[in-house]
Amino acid sequence: MAQKLPKDLLTLISYLKKLPGVGAKTAERFAFEFLSWEKGSLQLLGNELKEIQEKIPACSICGCLTDRGLCSFCKSRDPSILCILASPRDVYAIEETGNYRGLYHIIEHLLSPLDGRYTNTLRIDRIEKRILDSETKEIIIAFDSTLEGDTTALFLKNSLSHLNLSISRLAFGLPVGSSLEYVDGGTLARAFVGRQLI
Ligand SMILES: [Zn+2]
Repeated sequence: MAQKLPKDLLTLISYLKKLPGVGAKTAERFAFEFLSWEKGSLQLLGNELKEIQEKIPACSICGCLTDRGLCSFCKSRDPSILCILASPRDVYAIEETGNYRGLYHIIEHLLSPLDGRYTNTLRIDRIEKRILDSETKEIIIAFDSTLEGDTTALFLKNSLSHLNLSISRLAFGLPVGSSLEYVDGGTLARAFVGRQLI
């Protein structure tokens, strides 16, 4: 079927297929669904997509999402604890546990040499400056329980150990290979309370 579709429809399908969990058949279904939408709705969606990165920028200090300027976390949280995460999305999973009152720092990606993501892309200097500026006493590393998560946590621990901080990692109760976004709130809350020094 795909070979006979109009070229622009194929282009749309190829973009939709980039979304997580969307295969060729689902992308095709979505593309045909868009064709049936009213023009006004399509334009509104197009405008939202076009401006989404400008409308929802990353906080210049911690990398969390914000409407503009500093994010609400940087303005109001306990500066002695810093939770390091790999994605702004994981912040909301942690917030839902209701247990955490410290600051956040997003590193944007985990180390993965196979994908070309090496230690020099983590901006350790930026993390160190952040720690010194906020008088951080405790670091909580909250990465997915995967090989990349383990590698990055170990690298961070080794890189920051000279600062004499308490460095712990969420691990307790998190299934091996699990992504934070799929872990239920109760398990994540227990993982927080049971965080282990590394
Ligand atoms: Zn912030």
